[in-house]
Amino acid sequence: MRQRFDRNTVIGLVVLAAMMVGVPVTTYFNARDLRNDAIDAAHSHEVIDAVAAVRSDARKLQAAQRAYIITGGEDRLPPYHEAISALRVSGSQLRTLTAGDPDQNQRTESAVREIESGIASLDAVTTLRREKGLGAILEFSRGRENRSFVDPLLETLAAMEGYERDRLAARNTETTEAYTRTVYYGIAGAVLGLVALGMFVWLLARSLRASAAAAALVREQREWFRTTLGSVGDAIIATDTAGNVTFLNPVAEKLTGWPTADAVGRSLHEVFRIVNESTRAPVDNPARRALAEGVVVGLANHTILIARDGTERPIDDSAAPIRDGAGGVTGAVLVFHDITDRKRAEESMRFLADASSQLVELVDYESTLRRIANLAVGRFADWCVVDLVDDAGNRRRLSSNPEALAVAGPRPVDPALGPDPNAPDGIPHVLRTGAPDVVPDLDALDPRAAPLGPDRIARLRGWGIKSYLAIPLASRGRTIGGVTFLSTSAARRYGPAELVVAQDLAARIAVAIENTILYRTLQEQDRRKDEFLATLAHELRNPLAPIRNGLQILRIGRPPGDPAERTLAMMDRQIGQMVHLVDDLMDVSRVSRGKVILRKERVGVRALAEAAVETSRQMIETGKHELVVCVPADPLFVDADRTRLVQVLANLLNNAAKYTPPGGRIELSAEPRGADAVVRVTDNGLGIPTEMLPKIFEMFTQVGSSLDRSQGGLGIGLTLVRRLVELHGGTVSAESPGPNRGSTFTVRIPLAVEAGTASTHPPGTAEPSAGAPKLNILVVDDNRDAADSLALLLEVKGHEVRMAHDGPEALRVLETFRPDLIVLDIGLPGMNGYEVARRVRGSTELRAVTLVALTGWGQEEDRRRTRDAGFDYHLVKPADVTEIEKVLKTLTKK
Ligand code: ADP
Repeated sequence: MRQRFDRNTVIGLVVLAAMMVGVPVTTYFNARDLRNDAIDAAHSHEVIDAVAAVRSDARKLQAAQRAYIITGGEDRLPPYHEAISALRVSGSQLRTLTAGDPDQNQRTESAVREIESGIASLDAVTTLRREKGLGAILEFSRGRENRSFVDPLLETLAAMEGYERDRLAARNTETTEAYTRTVYYGIAGAVLGLVALGMFVWLLARSLRASAAAAALVREQREWFRTTLGSVGDAIIATDTAGNVTFLNPVAEKLTGWPTADAVGRSLHEVFRIVNESTRAPVDNPARRALAEGVVVGLANHTILIARDGTERPIDDSAAPIRDGAGGVTGAVLVFHDITDRKRAEESMRFLADASSQLVELVDYESTLRRIANLAVGRFADWCVVDLVDDAGNRRRLSSNPEALAVAGPRPVDPALGPDPNAPDGIPHVLRTGAPDVVPDLDALDPRAAPLGPDRIARLRGWGIKSYLAIPLASRGRTIGGVTFLSTSAARRYGPAELVVAQDLAARIAVAIENTILYRTLQEQDRRKDEFLATLAHELRNPLAPIRNGLQILRIGRPPGDPAERTLAMMDRQIGQMVHLVDDLMDVSRVSRGKVILRKERVGVRALAEAAVETSRQMIETGKHELVVCVPADPLFVDADRTRLVQVLANLLNNAAKYTPPGGRIELSAEPRGADAVVRVTDNGLGIPTEMLPKIFEMFTQVGSSLDRSQGGLGIGLTLVRRLVELHGGTVSAESPGPNRGSTFTVRIPLAVEAGTASTHPPGTAEPSAGAPKLNILVVDDNRDAADSLALLLEVKGHEVRMAHDGPEALRVLETFRPDLIVLDIGLPGMNGYEVARRVRGSTELRAVTLVALTGWGQEEDRRRTRDAGFDYHLVKPADVTEIEKVLKTLTKK
């Protein structure tokens, strides 16, 4: 732990340290000064002593010389010479002493010079005395200044001594100051030492107090930590750096099965055993990586913890390194928890989602329920049973997956869950009351007290069932069945959470079943409507044929303009109109049921336009409209079913004629536009309100009923137009500037990819039959009117005609009558037309006869069947007289 001093303490310490360093340093300098002063003083004393020695030797020399001069005794000379030597010695000593001081050195040099010159003058006088006697000396001294040679030397020596004494005085002052300083600094040093000691004691006390508080905090935190780890929901294991367990909280003890006392000190691998859920391979322990790499490590999914007693649990965990204050890893902590519940909840939700996605398909719900039951197995149940109750109360078991049960041999279908419809529990109870039944733990049930009864409990237990959940399926307030989920593993027990999931599923199943029923009902209604329309059209055709034939007969031989002929012509037109309506009705129901097959050929748009105009001519003329046809001379080819496209254009022309007041203008135009042939039918009639434009192509749509009723439409013409155009890969659209401003219908059909030649199809114009040879004809139709009228018509045209009204009768007639042509209805009582045809073709005498099928069914499939049965022609009722005449013509040509 890093201890930090506050700022003032630091400043104090720095000052103290500075002073503690300063005191000895100044003391050192003071002591040095004192020592230097002492050396200097000693030196000055030596110099003063040396000066005194020179002075004394000079005086001794002077005295020795005088003694000789006065006495003249030779015995006085040696002391004289000794004195000279002594003076020289002391002079040179003085010179040595003052060598370091330039001032004194200068004086010493002059003193030495004065000594030598003095000795020289003394020697001169001495010599004079020895040689000339005392008188010469006196003579020599007369007139000379009575000055001794010692005097200048003494002056120099006095100056030297004065100089040294001044220095001594100065040294003395300095020494006193240094001493005083040393005393003061010594006192300051002692005081500082005391202060430092005080501070040290204070800091020590403070640090002791702080560490005591820290220790208390650590104790408190450890306690807090222990309590927290003990009460968290996660399991926690701590290890040291070697990976040995140092701590387990109670949850970890429970999940691993290791009490702390046993686990501490053991290797983590021993206490915390983990394997992969599916491969069972040991999983790398995350604590190992946390220790080795010092990083936080999460555990891979699908890990199973194996407890000390072998119990396995899915867990989710992570490990993190424990670091000390310096950042070093001191161990690892492993945090994990049991995710059994979470996994089960996830599985339940996945099951719910998957099951719901199955329900989206509106197929039959029985197979859907079976699929859901299969989905449930493994994710939500070990066995799943669906029971359905029909309106009569009969129960049906849809699905069971009893493989999970612990019994061998054939599986019992149901006995445990409902032999007794009044049983107070299980599926009978659920079906009866509409309330769910949940048994979380079958083993915990008291067989005597539980409503299930001892026998059934024993049987369920015998199959290894541990828990079950039965929920009702309700639809429109009625319980229509139930789903039972059964578990054979102690790990899966049904409780409130599972009940919620199951009820959610039941609600979705109920909605899906209702939707399926609704959808089926709608489909059924639609199918019935189509069937009704088809049957209606077919039945309407039958009476139309004889009426038409009758009109033809009545018109024969009547002059044009005759009132009766005009009436008959009008009736014929009306019948034509009715036939047209019935045909449309029939076609639209066929197209709706996908029963129209196109017979495509390369055909020119011009030919189509002409045929359509031909078909609609009568209506256009009746309305006294002006028709403008504007089709390019350059051929435009399409690959199309000629009849169907003529029908489309004729329908549009008829509408234009119908919905345009008399005397209007109708225009039919065609042009190539990109890859399409565009055909337009424009009129200047009633027009179509904008809001109706998108709707008019829908079945049974009409604009404004009163007017349209008078026009006698059914509201299916445009539906048929659109469906036929779409069958050709084209589009049709309508535009109108508004009411009474006319309309334009635009049809686009893809142009034929390669230019080709259109098959030439002569327009079906009636050929006169006058002069044609007489033929033998058998007419077979159970509709007597139809047979009679056709027979009459053929007889009027000069042919020999016989009739029959069922298959056997036809065969009987053929025993005596040898026809050239048989016109045969298909739907005959007793024996159908196909059979009659096969018999005719099987007979040697009749093999060459021409067979014409006359039937209400005109699809390719119908035509193929008649062809296969041996028919030569296939005519659709009510057959146009012209069609029959065409057949007759080919026969008479033979
Ligand atoms: P309908 O048998 O009534 O003619 P259609 O399907 O042919 O049935 O037409 C649907 C409706 O579209 C008609 O009832 C009519 O109101 C409107 N319609 C069709 N063609 C025209 C047109 N050329 N001018 C005005 N209205 C039209």
